[in-house]
Amino acid sequence: MTPFDDDYAFRRKFTPKQRAQFFAKAGGRCQKCTRKLGPGDKWHLEHVQALRNGGTNDDDNVEVWCAWCKPAKDKLDATTAAKNRRVHIKHHLPTAERKKQGRAMPGTRRSGLRKRMNGKVEKWD
Ligand SMILES: [Zn+2]
Repeated sequence: MTPFDDDYAFRRKFTPKQRAQFFAKAGGRCQKCTRKLGPGDKWHLEHVQALRNGGTNDDDNVEVWCAWCKPAKDKLDATTAAKNRRVHIKHHLPTAERKKQGRAMPGTRRSGLRKRMNGKVEKWD
């Protein structure tokens, strides 16, 4: 699942009213660890299945998470996304396109130049 796929759900901005509704629905608690969220505590609207891993913006995929629970999941999401990307590339791109092409080794056909035994450098025909 990449932003190039047709059904990719792009991140949307939640309005303060929507944030308040999610917070009220969660009962003022983190929906991961059930920690009570006080006035000074930072919290996030977390996509339970990450957008980049095929998640949606639907209400049942969005939960209130405290600032302690989020980093660990972000790390896991990044790992999963990287794995998905590698699998996607391996399955959908032909070998020639996915091979990295750096600078050609000097003297090979791909470099376009060749060196004769007498030291003269000339173009490949
Ligand atoms: Zn939590």
